[in-house]
Amino acid sequence: MPQNLAVRGMNRILEAGFESEDDRILSPALTHEDEDNENPLRPKRISEYIGQDKVKENLSIFIEAARLRGEPLDHVLLYGPPGLGKTTLATIVANELKVNIRITSGPAIERPGDLAALLTNLNQGDVLFIDEIHRLSRSVEEILYPSMEDFAIDIITGKGQMAASYHLPLPKFTLVGATTRAGQLTAPLRDRFGVVLRLEMYTKEQLKIIIERSAKILKIKITDEGALELASRSRGTPRIANRLLKRVRDFAQVLGGGAIDQDKAKLALNKLEVDELGLDANDRRMLEMLVKFYNGGPVGLETLAASIGEEAVTIEEVYEPYLMQIGFLTRTPRGRCATCAVYAHLGIKPPASIPEQQVLLD
Ligand code: ADP
Repeated sequence: MPQNLAVRGMNRILEAGFESEDDRILSPALTHEDEDNENPLRPKRISEYIGQDKVKENLSIFIEAARLRGEPLDHVLLYGPPGLGKTTLATIVANELKVNIRITSGPAIERPGDLAALLTNLNQGDVLFIDEIHRLSRSVEEILYPSMEDFAIDIITGKGQMAASYHLPLPKFTLVGATTRAGQLTAPLRDRFGVVLRLEMYTKEQLKIIIERSAKILKIKITDEGALELASRSRGTPRIANRLLKRVRDFAQVLGGGAIDQDKAKLALNKLEVDELGLDANDRRMLEMLVKFYNGGPVGLETLAASIGEEAVTIEEVYEPYLMQIGFLTRTPRGRCATCAVYAHLGIKPPASIPEQQVLLD
Protein backbone atom coordinates (compact mmCIF):
# COMPACT_ATOMS: atom_id res chain seq x y z
CA MET A 1 0.00 0.00 0.00
CA PRO A 2 1.49 3.44 -0.89
CA GLN A 3 2.69 5.34 2.18
CA ASN A 4 0.22 8.29 1.97
CA LEU A 5 -2.74 5.97 1.45
CA ALA A 6 -1.72 3.95 4.48
CA VAL A 7 -1.42 7.08 6.62
CA ARG A 8 -4.81 8.34 5.42
CA GLY A 9 -6.38 4.98 6.22
CA MET A 10 -4.82 4.91 9.63
CA ASN A 11 -6.08 8.43 10.37
CA ARG A 12 -9.56 7.42 9.34
CA ILE A 13 -9.52 4.56 11.80
CA LEU A 14 -8.28 6.88 14.53
CA GLU A 15 -10.72 9.66 13.67
CA ALA A 16 -13.58 7.23 14.07
CA GLY A 17 -12.70 7.59 17.75
CA PHE A 18 -11.73 5.11 20.34
CA GLU A 19 -14.18 4.77 23.17
CA SER A 20 -12.48 4.93 26.54
CA GLU A 21 -12.72 1.91 28.82
CA ASP A 22 -15.10 3.82 31.13
CA ASP A 23 -17.72 4.40 28.42
CA ARG A 24 -17.45 1.06 26.76
CA ILE A 25 -20.49 -1.19 27.13
CA LEU A 26 -18.29 -4.26 26.76
CA SER A 27 -15.80 -3.15 29.39
CA PRO A 28 -15.37 -5.87 32.00
CA ALA A 29 -14.29 -3.20 34.50
CA LEU A 30 -16.69 -2.30 37.31
CA THR A 31 -18.64 0.93 36.68
CA HIS A 32 -20.79 2.92 39.09
CA GLU A 33 -23.88 1.61 37.34
CA ASP A 34 -22.73 -1.98 37.90
CA GLU A 35 -21.97 -1.24 41.53
CA ASP A 36 -25.48 0.07 42.15
CA ASN A 37 -27.05 -2.87 40.41
CA GLU A 38 -24.66 -5.67 41.21
CA ASN A 39 -25.52 -6.29 44.81
CA PRO A 40 -28.81 -8.10 44.20
CA LEU A 41 -27.23 -10.01 41.33
CA ARG A 42 -24.17 -11.22 43.22
CA PRO A 43 -24.60 -14.87 44.19
CA LYS A 44 -24.31 -15.23 47.95
CA ARG A 45 -23.81 -18.97 48.35
CA ILE A 46 -21.54 -21.36 46.50
CA SER A 47 -24.58 -23.25 45.21
CA GLU A 48 -25.79 -20.09 43.42
CA TYR A 49 -22.40 -19.47 41.80
CA ILE A 50 -22.62 -20.70 38.22
CA GLY A 51 -19.72 -22.39 36.39
CA GLN A 52 -16.06 -22.52 37.51
CA ASP A 53 -16.67 -26.09 38.66
CA LYS A 54 -13.04 -26.93 39.43
CA VAL A 55 -12.60 -23.78 41.52
CA LYS A 56 -15.87 -24.40 43.39
CA GLU A 57 -15.01 -28.02 44.06
CA ASN A 58 -11.59 -27.17 45.49
CA LEU A 59 -12.87 -24.26 47.54
CA SER A 60 -15.73 -26.30 48.99
CA ILE A 61 -13.30 -28.95 50.20
CA PHE A 62 -10.93 -26.41 51.77
CA ILE A 63 -13.84 -24.55 53.41
CA GLU A 64 -15.29 -27.77 54.82
CA ALA A 65 -11.88 -28.91 56.10
CA ALA A 66 -11.26 -25.55 57.79
CA ARG A 67 -14.71 -25.72 59.35
CA LEU A 68 -14.14 -29.26 60.67
CA ARG A 69 -10.80 -28.26 62.17
CA GLY A 70 -12.24 -25.06 63.57
CA GLU A 71 -9.39 -23.14 61.95
CA PRO A 72 -9.38 -20.22 59.54
CA LEU A 73 -9.15 -21.06 55.86
CA ASP A 74 -5.68 -20.89 54.27
CA HIS A 75 -4.97 -17.70 52.27
CA VAL A 76 -6.51 -17.82 48.78
CA LEU A 77 -5.29 -16.17 45.58
CA LEU A 78 -7.83 -15.79 42.76
CA TYR A 79 -6.65 -14.75 39.35
CA GLY A 80 -8.20 -14.15 35.96
CA PRO A 81 -9.54 -11.33 33.76
CA PRO A 82 -11.89 -8.70 35.28
CA GLY A 83 -15.61 -9.38 35.70
CA LEU A 84 -15.32 -13.17 36.07
CA GLY A 85 -16.45 -13.30 39.70
CA LYS A 86 -13.40 -12.95 41.96
CA THR A 87 -15.01 -10.48 44.40
CA THR A 88 -18.18 -12.57 44.35
CA LEU A 89 -16.21 -15.69 45.28
CA ALA A 90 -14.49 -13.88 48.15
CA THR A 91 -17.85 -12.85 49.61
CA ILE A 92 -19.13 -16.39 49.13
CA VAL A 93 -16.12 -17.76 51.04
CA ALA A 94 -16.94 -15.42 53.94
CA ASN A 95 -20.64 -16.35 53.82
CA GLU A 96 -19.91 -20.07 53.77
CA LEU A 97 -17.52 -19.69 56.70
CA LYS A 98 -20.07 -17.42 58.46
CA VAL A 99 -17.47 -14.73 59.08
CA ASN A 100 -17.21 -11.05 58.17
CA ILE A 101 -15.45 -9.76 55.08
CA ARG A 102 -13.48 -6.53 54.68
CA ILE A 103 -13.09 -5.47 51.06
CA THR A 104 -10.23 -3.26 49.91
CA SER A 105 -7.80 -3.00 47.01
CA GLY A 106 -4.04 -2.75 46.46
CA PRO A 107 -3.99 0.92 45.43
CA ALA A 108 -6.26 1.91 48.36
CA ILE A 109 -3.71 0.70 50.92
CA GLU A 110 -1.20 3.49 50.53
CA ARG A 111 0.96 3.14 53.63
CA PRO A 112 1.92 0.30 56.00
CA GLY A 113 -0.18 2.06 58.67
CA ASP A 114 -3.32 1.66 56.51
CA LEU A 115 -2.78 -2.08 56.35
CA ALA A 116 -1.99 -2.27 60.08
CA ALA A 117 -5.29 -0.48 60.81
CA LEU A 118 -7.22 -2.92 58.61
CA LEU A 119 -5.58 -5.99 60.11
CA THR A 120 -5.95 -4.99 63.74
CA ASN A 121 -9.68 -4.41 63.22
CA LEU A 122 -10.34 -7.95 62.01
CA ASN A 123 -11.90 -10.66 64.16
CA GLN A 124 -10.68 -14.24 64.41
CA GLY A 125 -11.41 -16.09 61.14
CA ASP A 126 -12.50 -12.97 59.17
CA VAL A 127 -11.79 -12.64 55.46
CA LEU A 128 -9.74 -9.72 54.20
CA PHE A 129 -10.24 -9.30 50.45
CA ILE A 130 -7.58 -7.31 48.60
CA ASP A 131 -8.50 -6.70 44.96
CA GLU A 132 -5.71 -5.83 42.51
CA ILE A 133 -3.21 -7.22 45.00
CA HIS A 134 -0.41 -6.89 42.44
CA ARG A 135 -0.62 -3.12 42.94
CA LEU A 136 0.41 -3.13 46.61
CA SER A 137 3.45 -1.01 47.31
CA ARG A 138 6.68 -2.67 48.40
CA SER A 139 6.53 -1.22 51.90
CA VAL A 140 2.96 -2.46 52.41
CA GLU A 141 3.82 -5.87 50.99
CA GLU A 142 6.63 -6.21 53.48
CA ILE A 143 4.32 -6.00 56.46
CA LEU A 144 1.80 -8.25 54.76
CA TYR A 145 4.30 -11.17 54.74
CA PRO A 146 4.60 -11.63 58.53
CA SER A 147 0.88 -10.98 58.98
CA MET A 148 0.04 -13.79 56.56
CA GLU A 149 2.60 -16.19 57.96
CA ASP A 150 2.82 -15.52 61.69
CA PHE A 151 -0.36 -13.48 62.25
CA ALA A 152 1.67 -10.68 63.80
CA ILE A 153 3.20 -7.40 62.73
CA ASP A 154 6.15 -5.43 64.03
CA ILE A 155 5.55 -1.74 64.26
CA ILE A 156 8.42 0.69 64.75
CA THR A 157 7.67 4.08 66.25
CA GLY A 158 9.98 7.06 66.69
CA LYS A 159 13.44 7.56 65.31
CA GLY A 160 17.05 7.18 66.49
CA GLN A 161 17.38 6.62 70.23
CA MET A 162 13.65 7.09 70.72
CA ALA A 163 12.79 4.29 68.29
CA ALA A 164 10.79 1.45 69.75
CA SER A 165 9.55 -1.75 68.17
CA TYR A 166 6.25 -3.35 69.10
CA HIS A 167 5.27 -6.89 68.26
CA LEU A 168 1.53 -6.85 67.64
CA PRO A 169 -0.31 -10.17 67.49
CA LEU A 170 -3.20 -10.29 65.01
CA PRO A 171 -6.35 -12.43 64.90
CA LYS A 172 -5.98 -15.43 62.60
CA PHE A 173 -7.60 -14.22 59.40
CA THR A 174 -7.91 -15.42 55.80
CA LEU A 175 -6.51 -13.22 53.08
CA VAL A 176 -8.26 -13.54 49.73
CA GLY A 177 -6.21 -11.78 47.09
CA ALA A 178 -7.46 -11.12 43.56
CA THR A 179 -5.42 -10.16 40.55
CA THR A 180 -5.79 -9.89 36.83
CA ARG A 181 -2.02 -10.26 36.49
CA ALA A 182 -0.68 -13.21 38.44
CA GLY A 183 2.65 -12.80 36.68
CA GLN A 184 3.16 -9.43 38.31
CA LEU A 185 2.93 -10.77 41.84
CA THR A 186 6.26 -10.97 43.63
CA ALA A 187 7.40 -14.53 44.33
CA PRO A 188 7.42 -14.12 48.15
CA LEU A 189 3.81 -12.88 48.10
CA ARG A 190 2.63 -15.61 45.74
CA ASP A 191 4.33 -18.29 47.86
CA ARG A 192 2.37 -17.26 50.93
CA PHE A 193 -0.97 -18.24 49.42
CA GLY A 194 -1.89 -21.83 50.28
CA VAL A 195 -4.62 -21.97 47.64
CA VAL A 196 -4.13 -20.50 44.14
CA LEU A 197 -7.13 -20.66 41.82
CA ARG A 198 -7.50 -19.49 38.26
CA LEU A 199 -10.91 -18.38 36.97
CA GLU A 200 -11.77 -19.30 33.40
CA MET A 201 -13.97 -17.47 30.94
CA TYR A 202 -17.57 -18.74 30.93
CA THR A 203 -19.17 -20.75 28.16
CA LYS A 204 -22.22 -19.50 26.29
CA GLU A 205 -24.41 -22.01 28.13
CA GLN A 206 -23.15 -20.89 31.55
CA LEU A 207 -23.70 -17.22 30.65
CA LYS A 208 -27.21 -18.06 29.53
CA ILE A 209 -27.96 -19.47 33.00
CA ILE A 210 -26.45 -16.36 34.62
CA ILE A 211 -28.60 -14.11 32.40
CA GLU A 212 -31.74 -16.08 33.21
CA ARG A 213 -30.96 -15.91 36.93
CA SER A 214 -30.36 -12.13 36.75
CA ALA A 215 -33.50 -11.62 34.66
CA LYS A 216 -35.54 -13.40 37.33
CA ILE A 217 -34.06 -11.24 40.11
CA LEU A 218 -34.63 -8.02 38.12
CA LYS A 219 -38.09 -9.21 36.99
CA ILE A 220 -37.18 -9.01 33.31
CA LYS A 221 -38.95 -11.35 30.92
CA ILE A 222 -36.61 -13.06 28.48
CA THR A 223 -37.03 -16.04 26.17
CA ASP A 224 -34.57 -18.93 25.82
CA GLU A 225 -33.34 -17.63 22.46
CA GLY A 226 -33.13 -14.06 23.74
CA ALA A 227 -30.93 -15.19 26.65
CA LEU A 228 -28.73 -17.24 24.32
CA GLU A 229 -28.30 -14.28 21.99
CA LEU A 230 -27.12 -12.10 24.89
CA ALA A 231 -24.90 -14.89 26.20
CA SER A 232 -23.11 -15.33 22.91
CA ARG A 233 -22.22 -11.64 22.80
CA SER A 234 -21.04 -11.30 26.41
CA ARG A 235 -17.35 -12.14 25.88
CA GLY A 236 -17.35 -14.99 28.37
CA THR A 237 -17.84 -12.48 31.21
CA PRO A 238 -20.77 -12.40 33.69
CA ARG A 239 -20.37 -8.69 34.42
CA ILE A 240 -20.84 -7.92 30.71
CA ALA A 241 -23.76 -10.35 30.46
CA ASN A 242 -25.58 -8.55 33.29
CA ARG A 243 -24.86 -5.15 31.78
CA LEU A 244 -26.09 -6.15 28.33
CA LEU A 245 -29.25 -7.57 29.89
CA LYS A 246 -30.05 -4.21 31.50
CA ARG A 247 -29.35 -2.21 28.35
CA VAL A 248 -31.37 -4.54 26.16
CA ARG A 249 -34.26 -4.32 28.62
CA ASP A 250 -34.36 -0.55 27.92
CA PHE A 251 -34.62 -1.18 24.19
CA ALA A 252 -37.26 -3.87 24.66
CA GLN A 253 -39.36 -1.53 26.80
CA VAL A 254 -39.22 1.28 24.25
CA LEU A 255 -39.96 -1.17 21.45
CA GLY A 256 -43.31 -1.96 23.00
CA GLY A 257 -42.58 -4.07 26.06
CA GLY A 258 -42.99 -7.81 26.23
CA ALA A 259 -40.31 -10.39 26.76
CA ILE A 260 -36.82 -9.97 25.31
CA ASP A 261 -36.83 -12.42 22.44
CA GLN A 262 -34.09 -13.13 19.93
CA ASP A 263 -35.23 -10.41 17.52
CA LYS A 264 -35.36 -7.70 20.17
CA ALA A 265 -32.01 -8.83 21.57
CA LYS A 266 -30.42 -8.78 18.12
CA LEU A 267 -31.84 -5.37 17.28
CA ALA A 268 -30.74 -3.83 20.56
CA LEU A 269 -27.27 -5.35 20.45
CA ASN A 270 -26.77 -4.20 16.88
CA LYS A 271 -27.77 -0.68 17.94
CA LEU A 272 -25.25 -0.94 20.76
CA GLU A 273 -22.68 -1.95 18.12
CA VAL A 274 -21.97 -5.28 19.76
CA ASP A 275 -21.56 -7.84 16.99
CA GLU A 276 -22.46 -11.56 16.95
CA LEU A 277 -19.15 -12.49 18.50
CA GLY A 278 -19.34 -9.83 21.20
CA LEU A 279 -16.84 -7.52 19.52
CA ASP A 280 -17.45 -3.79 19.62
CA ALA A 281 -16.11 -0.90 17.57
CA ASN A 282 -12.92 -0.76 19.66
CA ASP A 283 -12.07 -4.40 19.05
CA ARG A 284 -12.81 -4.09 15.38
CA ARG A 285 -10.66 -0.98 15.03
CA MET A 286 -7.77 -2.65 16.79
CA LEU A 287 -8.05 -5.72 14.59
CA GLU A 288 -8.36 -3.57 11.47
CA MET A 289 -5.21 -1.72 12.43
CA LEU A 290 -3.43 -5.01 12.98
CA VAL A 291 -4.35 -6.51 9.62
CA LYS A 292 -4.27 -3.38 7.45
CA PHE A 293 -1.18 -1.64 8.73
CA TYR A 294 0.92 -4.39 10.24
CA ASN A 295 0.00 -7.14 7.75
CA GLY A 296 -1.56 -9.18 10.53
CA GLY A 297 1.54 -8.92 12.72
CA PRO A 298 3.63 -9.78 14.53
CA VAL A 299 3.47 -6.35 16.11
CA GLY A 300 4.74 -5.42 19.57
CA LEU A 301 2.13 -4.69 22.23
CA GLU A 302 3.44 -1.16 22.86
CA THR A 303 3.39 -0.32 19.14
CA LEU A 304 -0.14 -1.62 18.76
CA ALA A 305 -1.25 0.31 21.85
CA ALA A 306 0.34 3.54 20.64
CA SER A 307 -1.18 3.22 17.19
CA ILE A 308 -4.73 3.00 18.54
CA GLY A 309 -4.22 5.42 21.43
CA GLU A 310 -4.95 2.85 24.11
CA GLU A 311 -2.92 1.76 27.14
CA ALA A 312 -0.90 -1.42 26.65
CA VAL A 313 -2.21 -2.83 29.93
CA THR A 314 -5.83 -2.31 28.79
CA ILE A 315 -5.15 -4.22 25.59
CA GLU A 316 -3.45 -6.97 27.56
CA GLU A 317 -6.09 -7.33 30.27
CA VAL A 318 -9.32 -6.34 28.57
CA TYR A 319 -9.17 -6.90 24.81
CA GLU A 320 -6.75 -9.75 24.41
CA PRO A 321 -8.06 -12.48 26.72
CA TYR A 322 -11.32 -12.73 24.80
CA LEU A 323 -9.76 -12.27 21.34
CA MET A 324 -7.33 -15.05 22.19
CA GLN A 325 -10.10 -17.25 23.53
CA ILE A 326 -12.05 -17.03 20.28
CA GLY A 327 -8.90 -17.73 18.27
CA PHE A 328 -8.54 -14.24 16.76
CA LEU A 329 -5.20 -13.31 18.25
CA THR A 330 -2.02 -15.15 19.07
CA ARG A 331 0.87 -14.00 21.22
CA THR A 332 4.26 -14.87 19.79
CA PRO A 333 7.71 -13.92 21.10
CA ARG A 334 7.86 -11.28 18.35
CA GLY A 335 4.45 -9.74 19.06
CA ARG A 336 0.72 -10.05 18.46
CA CYS A 337 -0.60 -11.78 15.34
CA ALA A 338 -4.06 -11.86 13.77
CA THR A 339 -5.35 -15.26 12.66
CA CYS A 340 -7.24 -16.04 9.45
CA ALA A 341 -10.49 -15.83 11.43
CA VAL A 342 -9.95 -12.06 11.83
CA TYR A 343 -9.76 -11.57 8.07
CA ALA A 344 -12.94 -13.60 7.61
CA HIS A 345 -14.74 -11.62 10.35
CA LEU A 346 -13.72 -8.24 8.94
CA GLY A 347 -14.40 -9.35 5.37
CA ILE A 348 -10.81 -8.74 4.30
CA LYS A 349 -8.88 -11.13 2.06
CA PRO A 350 -5.96 -12.64 3.98
CA PRO A 351 -2.50 -12.35 2.40
CA ALA A 352 -1.29 -15.59 0.82
CA SER A 353 1.79 -15.45 3.03
CA ILE A 354 -0.04 -15.56 6.36
CA PRO A 355 2.28 -17.65 8.58
CA GLU A 356 1.12 -21.03 9.71
CA GLN A 357 0.88 -20.21 13.41
CA GLN A 358 -1.62 -17.49 12.57
CA VAL A 359 -4.02 -19.91 10.91
CA LEU A 360 -6.08 -21.30 13.73
CA LEU A 361 -9.51 -21.59 12.17
CA ASP A 362 -10.72 -22.65 8.76
P1 ADP B 1 -14.34 -9.57 39.50
O1 ADP B 1 -14.13 -9.34 40.97
O2 ADP B 1 -13.66 -10.79 38.99
O3 ADP B 1 -14.05 -8.36 38.66
P2 ADP B 1 -17.15 -9.76 40.27
O4 ADP B 1 -17.05 -10.78 41.36
O5 ADP B 1 -17.32 -8.34 40.72
O6 ADP B 1 -15.91 -9.88 39.28
O7 ADP B 1 -18.35 -10.22 39.31
C1 ADP B 1 -19.05 -9.34 38.49
C2 ADP B 1 -20.55 -9.62 38.52
O8 ADP B 1 -20.79 -10.76 37.72
C3 ADP B 1 -21.10 -9.97 39.91
O9 ADP B 1 -21.71 -8.89 40.53
C4 ADP B 1 -22.15 -11.02 39.65
O10 ADP B 1 -23.41 -10.41 39.50
C5 ADP B 1 -21.75 -11.61 38.33
N1 ADP B 1 -21.12 -12.93 38.48
C6 ADP B 1 -19.79 -13.19 38.51
N2 ADP B 1 -19.56 -14.51 38.58
C7 ADP B 1 -20.78 -15.10 38.60
C8 ADP B 1 -21.20 -16.48 38.66
N3 ADP B 1 -20.31 -17.47 38.68
N4 ADP B 1 -22.51 -16.72 38.69
C9 ADP B 1 -23.41 -15.71 38.63
N5 ADP B 1 -23.07 -14.40 38.56
C10 ADP B 1 -21.78 -14.10 38.55
